[in-house]
Amino acid sequence: MNLRFLIIPISLFILSCGDSHEDKQKTIPSQIEHEVYIKVLGIAQDGGMPHINNPSEFKDVATNVRTKELVVSLGLIDREQQKKYLFDATPDMPQQLHMLDEAISTNTIIDGVFLTHAHMGHYTGLMHFGREAMGSKTIPVYAMPKMKKFLETNGPWSQLVDLNNIMIHPIQGDRVITLSRKLKITPFLVPHRDEFSETVGYRIEGPEKTALFIPDINKWSVWETSIVEEVKKVDYAFIDATFFSEGEIPRPMSEVPHPFIDETTALFSEENKAIKSKVIFIHFNHSNPALYPKNSKRVALEEEGYRFAHQGAIFGL
Ligand SMILES: [Zn+2]
Ligand SMILES: [Zn+2]
Repeated sequence: MNLRFLIIPISLFILSCGDSHEDKQKTIPSQIEHEVYIKVLGIAQDGGMPHINNPSEFKDVATNVRTKELVVSLGLIDREQQKKYLFDATPDMPQQLHMLDEAISTNTIIDGVFLTHAHMGHYTGLMHFGREAMGSKTIPVYAMPKMKKFLETNGPWSQLVDLNNIMIHPIQGDRVITLSRKLKITPFLVPHRDEFSETVGYRIEGPEKTALFIPDINKWSVWETSIVEEVKKVDYAFIDATFFSEGEIPRPMSEVPHPFIDETTALFSEENKAIKSKVIFIHFNHSNPALYPKNSKRVALEEEGYRFAHQGAIFGL
């Protein structure tokens, strides 16, 4: 099994060498009517599903009992401007950029990558822009101050900066980034295990609708902002659903604090179905029973209005 882990990444690097997008024609999938929309590119927690050291999950995926789930990422497509953006650079980024390319194929592989924080599922995909793989030129990477410094001062990421594979665009909490007249992005700080960088969520404001993306956060109670009030202000809220409930993993869960799904739903218990349906759970740990579409607890929550992100889902803005 260890050998397989080695062979797959190496072959990915080799296959990607010399990749060129120069001859691409602009294509627009006819079935999508939204001018600006989000496409879900992955829903799993940083470790993905199947997860390392879980032979039964690998077997279940191989025998089609379960679906492989890519690490959490959102694609943002602006058809009017012919641009596409990525929220977080996951270890699955090559496949996710391909999914975005299927949505809108232009002369650039990506027009901007917005990073939330320096945990493995959220930025390590940047490695594919480097010399060993794509060898890209000045891919815009939007990063908060500590995240920027982390990338600039630690290998191998610093090489991406030195070789201009990526071009870091500094961003700040609560400061709006205007991508076009109809598309604005605002990062905001959230409490999380900030070993290497701060952590942000993003507010994504389209021509008609607004989305919230908070893939990682500590318990809601340690955030000075009310998640219920924030959800009410937007149309879609993609929020941290790492674990369903206490006792889900065989180690102290206080080491990895996240709002449990059952804690989040308790906060929304007095709200109506329309508010609950704005909540779209994402960032599922491989242990989370909500990864099974037919799980009874998940189905019960869906009946109340809550939604569970799935790869390929489209949300018009
Ligand atoms: Zn994460
Ligand atoms: Zn994290």
